[in-house]
Amino acid sequence: MTRQRLTILGATGSIGVSTLDVVDRHPDRFEIFALTGSSQLDRLAAQCRRYNPKYAVVGSLQSAQKLAELIGLNHPTEILAGLDALETVASSSEVDTVMAAIVGAAGLKPTLAAVKAGKRVLLANKEALVMAGHLFMTEIKSSGAKLLPIDSEHNAIFQSLPHAFESGLERSGVSRVLLTGSGGPFRTMPLDQLAAVTVEQACAHPNWVMGRKISVDSATMMNKGLEVIEAHWLFGARPDQIEIIVHPQSVIHSMVEYVDGSVLAQLGHPDMRTPIAHALGYPDRIESGVGSLDLFRIAQLTFEKPDLARFPCIGLAYRALEAGGTAPAILNAANEVAVAAFLDGRLPFLRIADVISAVLDEVPHVIVNVLEDVLHADSRGRDAAQRQLASWATA
Ligand code: NAD
Ligand code: MG
Repeated sequence: MTRQRLTILGATGSIGVSTLDVVDRHPDRFEIFALTGSSQLDRLAAQCRRYNPKYAVVGSLQSAQKLAELIGLNHPTEILAGLDALETVASSSEVDTVMAAIVGAAGLKPTLAAVKAGKRVLLANKEALVMAGHLFMTEIKSSGAKLLPIDSEHNAIFQSLPHAFESGLERSGVSRVLLTGSGGPFRTMPLDQLAAVTVEQACAHPNWVMGRKISVDSATMMNKGLEVIEAHWLFGARPDQIEIIVHPQSVIHSMVEYVDGSVLAQLGHPDMRTPIAHALGYPDRIESGVGSLDLFRIAQLTFEKPDLARFPCIGLAYRALEAGGTAPAILNAANEVAVAAFLDGRLPFLRIADVISAVLDEVPHVIVNVLEDVLHADSRGRDAAQRQLASWATA
């Protein structure tokens, strides 16, 4: 078997580390071509020593120098810095598969570079698709890239769709996709306590261990909102064909409903190594390190409607999806700025949705023709969000 050559964008993060854990179990199948990371240089250095990638990519020349010192002398890995280098290692002719696991808008250009180069792209970086879904899907058609969803819900939907699935649900006899979500750490907290929640509380997800940004998105349920937009692009589902179902146990990772009344679901432990192994091995099934599911111990699966008053970010995401064009990119930009401010202690939790809502009101959305339209919307959304933060701070 020839080994798949992998680039892992965001190797030092939660998804990156889980990816390497699966790779470790299959030395006959995978070899590492490039690893990238923007912080946690100690971890990146240890990964380079262990996997001997051809390239490691960091954010700046200063970080490159520090990484070189951490890796030590006479090591074969070549260290590169900057956005161009990320695009290079994502699109190199020496790469087969790219794990897109940078968090946020920073992953957009390298992920798009991998798609344009016709790679097999394992997509964890949902923000990239939310921002530029139309461009992604157009590029995939022309380059022949294969996009495999890593987000557990989309991976579950992918597994529950017919093999010969065509975008546009009707053509495959699918009536709806049912997107499950745990409801996060604040699903049942008394509403009057939400105003004062801390970063630690917001990042303490009941079922999943994840990076800090997505943990906060799960606490506001903006994560589910972004996933609705992600499902729209990946599967050609209209907003009214996507239903969010709160399922606190996180055992069913999502479902597909067919016109004959059948509902297919994918179940498993809440461990990202399952969707990662599914996509890495696809179409084969490979071992992931995740144990078997003890349904007797779980005993009960429960379902609730999402509380849209408690989680206004869900409504904001639907609003952006329905508005179309650059609206999702503006939504994403405002969310990234607001979440970063919350994580820095500069914005109370409940203000995150207020900032995003005000930005959507303020910044006009336009049709997306080229990448610059998306990048411009992203920067206008960020500027407007920063102005909102300044006005909250002085209010
Ligand atoms: P994380 O914060 O743990 O890791 C992020 C990675 O991106 C790190 O390697 C970091 O160095 C890199 N990075 C951050 N900013 C960067 C920048 N400006 N330039 C280049 N690299 C940068 O995040 P994560 O939890 O691993 O999530 C990664 C992506 O996967 C996100 O888009 C998230 O929504 C998605 N995702 C994560 C999970 C999960 O369980 N963690 C589940 C589903 C989807
Ligand atoms: Mg998810």
